Amino acid sequence: MPASSTRDDFDKYMAPNYSPQQAIPVRGEGSRLWDQEGREYIDFAGGIAVNALGHCHPALVGALTEQANKLWHLSNVYTNEPALALSRELVERTFADKVFFCSSGGEANEAAFKLARRWGFDNFGEKKHKIVSFKQSFHGRTLFTVSVGGQPKYTEGFGPVPGGISHATFNDLDSVRALIDDDTCAVVVEPIQGEGGVTPATPEFLQGLRELCDQHQALLVMDEVQSGVGRSGKLYAYMHYGVTPDILTSAKAIGGGFPLGAMLASDRVAKSLVVGTHGSTYGGNPLACAVGLAAVTTIDTPDVLEGVERRHMLFREHLEVINRKHGVFKEIRGMGLLIGAEMSDDFQGKARDILPLALEEGLMALVAGPNVLRMAPSLVISEVEIEEGMARLELAIERLVGQS
Ligand code: PLP
Repeated sequence: MPASSTRDDFDKYMAPNYSPQQAIPVRGEGSRLWDQEGREYIDFAGGIAVNALGHCHPALVGALTEQANKLWHLSNVYTNEPALALSRELVERTFADKVFFCSSGGEANEAAFKLARRWGFDNFGEKKHKIVSFKQSFHGRTLFTVSVGGQPKYTEGFGPVPGGISHATFNDLDSVRALIDDDTCAVVVEPIQGEGGVTPATPEFLQGLRELCDQHQALLVMDEVQSGVGRSGKLYAYMHYGVTPDILTSAKAIGGGFPLGAMLASDRVAKSLVVGTHGSTYGGNPLACAVGLAAVTTIDTPDVLEGVERRHMLFREHLEVINRKHGVFKEIRGMGLLIGAEMSDDFQGKARDILPLALEEGLMALVAGPNVLRMAPSLVISEVEIEEGMARLELAIERLVGQS
């Protein structure tokens, strides 16, 4: 990479669908990053819930470099050892009997929605194709996944979109009862709505969805792209609820920063994915799966998972202290290390204004919509880094308050 690359090059050469911050990070270690000028940042963003073991974790660097010296890519004309090993681990650690690999969350969901329809078609005929999803949900950016997603801004101007999809209200079973029927092949839900505002499902809601799916012989599809792989304090968030999905999608943290996605399914459903029905050149790529295997086996340990709950409490305590002084938040919510702080009435629509201020103070954070400041840090972030990061956040919030 030539040292002369600047932020202006983004506007000059890259498609205008993003608007990145001005600083260009060049190196990361754990929960700290450094930019081109050598300025240091604490990372509460975690690459949008991807870097679950921080930056350059030795287990991931080791797995990647070892595999990089052996075999990078084959395609699915052949199978490979890392993919076989990772699929076995995922099956042994979850409800699933079968795993399909791909390279992103959107692709995992595309596979899940196609499989749900194909399963409906195989077992009940063409009529069983309806999908019930939720307002504010987010499932990816392909045409099918933005259509199942419940945020109209992402489908605007891309029609005609696939049909047979309706959107109920999250955490409201009556709204699902009004939409589900015997032609429904799947109900699709995030156990913790991430992009929609960091809202965990209530236990009654997920249990009720399971019952409604069973009554109407529909599949329960859980999108755990953001909530999965340790983020909630368990390997997958569904494990907190005592509710088992038929299909689960995983991405982001499963690759710890290497592009990897997976769709997990029970045998009765996966058997519809016969040879030729679906595929991906990169799916199950040895490099990605070697890193994924290291990520899953490092994260799914009592040490890491129990630490998530401890860190959750620390985040909450710090945010409450900041809020007692500045009154900027209405509610602090989330599970494990997926935390949302909803802005109070006086600061409606201002969550995004915190990001550049925080960056100037040396902190990376996220938003989830206009009103929620979101944090999805490394699951192994240290107490010192949490304290320093929160001190920096407080400086940014003081400036926000000063501006209004
Ligand atoms: N599903 C959920 C719940 C997500 O949060 C995201 C991304 O934010 C996606 C799907 C899409 O994943 P990707 O961007 O890897 O395609």
